[in-house]
Amino acid sequence: MSEHFLLFDVGGTDIKAGLANANGEILQVLREPTHKVGPEHAAAELVGQLSALSRRLTSQSAITPVAAGLAVCGLVDAESGTGIFSANLGWRNAPLRAMASAELGLPVGFGHDVAMAARAELELGSGAKDAALRRNAVVMVIGTGIATALMVDGRLISAGGYAGELGHAQVPGGLPCACGATGCLETLGSAGAISKRYQQATGKAGGAKEVFAARAAGDEIAAGIIHEAIEALTFTMAQLCSSVAPEGIVLGGGLAQAGDSFIEELQVSLRRRLSFHREPRLIPAHLGADAGLQGAMILARDIAAQRSHLAL
Ligand SMILES: [Zn+2]
Repeated sequence: MSEHFLLFDVGGTDIKAGLANANGEILQVLREPTHKVGPEHAAAELVGQLSALSRRLTSQSAITPVAAGLAVCGLVDAESGTGIFSANLGWRNAPLRAMASAELGLPVGFGHDVAMAARAELELGSGAKDAALRRNAVVMVIGTGIATALMVDGRLISAGGYAGELGHAQVPGGLPCACGATGCLETLGSAGAISKRYQQATGKAGGAKEVFAARAAGDEIAAGIIHEAIEALTFTMAQLCSSVAPEGIVLGGGLAQAGDSFIEELQVSLRRRLSFHREPRLIPAHLGADAGLQGAMILARDIAAQRSHLAL
């Protein structure tokens, strides 16, 4: 019987669960809202929910998975298998890998959702045929907030779960942020900020896409807000060019698709800020919404390979 893997991508809003075969093909996907309970029960509730999802995925077939991959949101220490903190879901210092492994009765590969989506993007998406990008890249997911993963010389930088929080890096003109600080990039540069600021200025509701459409129709308020978002984003990107010097910055999330010229405008604005630096290529992400599940697949594949290596 061929090997199968259970995959879990746990976000603040919902959990995606999937089943993949040994070739990494995702055969089946379930999605349901993440249960929200108090901080004391959050971790136990999560592993209970994972176990129920795994029964639903495997009960219809004779498949017995050999390993699971678990990618979760929040602050994550992948090495120790700990969910350090999740503002959305409430756990604190929870040994999620060990708990999930005990509950599922399987070896569990564990990691951060954005970091693993980034690894999937670089291994299987935009970096699949681009060795330079696979070694030195920044993956930036710009949606309601801004999540980032840093690949430097072939290693994903984790720093105990604290690295890559560029949504909360200070930028000139930044506004008060939900995190408690003032001036964070995501208060100007996220899709969420663009639509919120436009609504505050004009009373018109809509997503970032609508603000881009308003700009195209000659709306100066929309143009100003988008200009400030671009300047804020390239301010942070330029800091990255002088600190970790990526070959490319891969842009995912809603904003990357918001306007046709958006990535080009970012590239021009970034170029203006650089001199001798390596200018990164700005690249739209190839993998879509299931990048997190693909990342969980990499985690499951790696832990299964480690186990079979140990057994030899
Ligand atoms: Zn912040």
